[in-house]
Amino acid sequence: MFQRILIANRGEIALRVIRACRELGVECVCVYSKADEGAPYLELADEAVCIGPGPARESYLDIPRIIAAAEITSADAIHPGYGFLAENAHFAEVCRDCNIEFIGPSPEAMARLGDKVSAKRIAREAKVPVFPGTDGAIDDLDEAAEVAKKIGYPVIIKASAGGGGRGMRICRNEHELRQNVSSARQEAESAFGNGAVYIEKFLESARHVEVQIIGDKHGNAVHLYERDCSVQRRHQKLVEEAPAPHVEPRRRDEVCKAAAKLIKKAEYSGAATVEFLMDDKQNFYMLEVNTRVQVEHPVSEMITGVDIVRTMILVASGEPIPFKQRDIKIRGHAIECRINAEDPDRNFAPFPGKITRFDPPGGPGVRMDTHCVAGYVVPPTYDSMIGKLIVHDDDRRSAITRMERALDELHIEPIKTTVGLHRRLMQNHAFIEGGVDIHFLERLLKK
Ligand code: ADP
Repeated sequence: MFQRILIANRGEIALRVIRACRELGVECVCVYSKADEGAPYLELADEAVCIGPGPARESYLDIPRIIAAAEITSADAIHPGYGFLAENAHFAEVCRDCNIEFIGPSPEAMARLGDKVSAKRIAREAKVPVFPGTDGAIDDLDEAAEVAKKIGYPVIIKASAGGGGRGMRICRNEHELRQNVSSARQEAESAFGNGAVYIEKFLESARHVEVQIIGDKHGNAVHLYERDCSVQRRHQKLVEEAPAPHVEPRRRDEVCKAAAKLIKKAEYSGAATVEFLMDDKQNFYMLEVNTRVQVEHPVSEMITGVDIVRTMILVASGEPIPFKQRDIKIRGHAIECRINAEDPDRNFAPFPGKITRFDPPGGPGVRMDTHCVAGYVVPPTYDSMIGKLIVHDDDRRSAITRMERALDELHIEPIKTTVGLHRRLMQNHAFIEGGVDIHFLERLLKK
């Protein structure tokens, strides 16, 4: 096992990793930027090192500074959390060159699955259903038009290196396709430094269903069942739950096994999420693979009893996954609400500032993952997510009731947050019935 882990992240996920380290008896080092100076979670680390000013480019994304911090503090492993450098294969490679274990996949496995075109190719080989579309990146406009004609409009142009919903264009006819390809390429080039785009069939109505997987360095991969993350706006998830409501057991089995097969085939170790869209006939098509721990991992932890962050650390240290597939059973239902410092009434504009009152909820089946306390100042510099409220109960209905109860106990003042919107969601008829699609929230907000 490692002696010291450096956490190359901030906020709630840094705290989540600190907790896993404590329970494993491993020391941990936090890096922080000037904007996070004095944040309370830093006190829980064995050491904290300032790595630069607020802008992420000069701190949390600055590879030489992070490596220097690891070397100065004698850390033998780095946990990247999510976001920042978590899916940067070059960073994983630099760690390896410096003899520091990257807690995640090898740079090769990350590149194989992190690139969408490459992931789709491996998925096809593993017989995992993918969207019909171009086999690789589009080189030729005529060829793209040919493929689009074959699969039928609407189609969607996507960036091979894409993320955060950028570089995507929906095209309803050939004219739109021809018009959009070059602007999508440009957007992808400037956002990701990689202009490769491809096209696939666009599903008008779908649910976002994703499977949590853990792989190890001995060729094993175990799935922890699926999550439904259909409640999104601008392709950003707001509520996640596990298991996905109303999925037929046979389908569940198929999609979870398919995802595990893909991870095994890619010789991948660490936590991964294989994302799918599910149509109204419960057909699944793979969207992409996320090669890191996800924000929404706690719902899978709650229904399976597996500590995903701890398991990531164990497998990175070379141990085999400490459980078998047959040990993993779904127990009850879990829901997560993302608590963002945003103003839902002003198009979710970020709302940083000082929190004077912070009362987190408690009681049975309630977990709040947050780095916030009363007196904490939410910096304007980073993502506006300030915490996650997770509940677990015997079934979905009880979990919704429990979430309502927990949301009533949660008070964050005076900044604006998504708490009120979550209260509204938990009482929404369509949400309560389950199985809402990915456009549900945007429709609701327009009302
Ligand atoms: P990103 O990596 O940019 O987040 P994804 O491939 O994960 O991109 O897609 C993000 C979201 O975009 C999905 O959750 C879904 O809402 C929408 N989307 C992507 N591809 C399709 C498709 N083929 N049909 C319909 N919606 C899609």
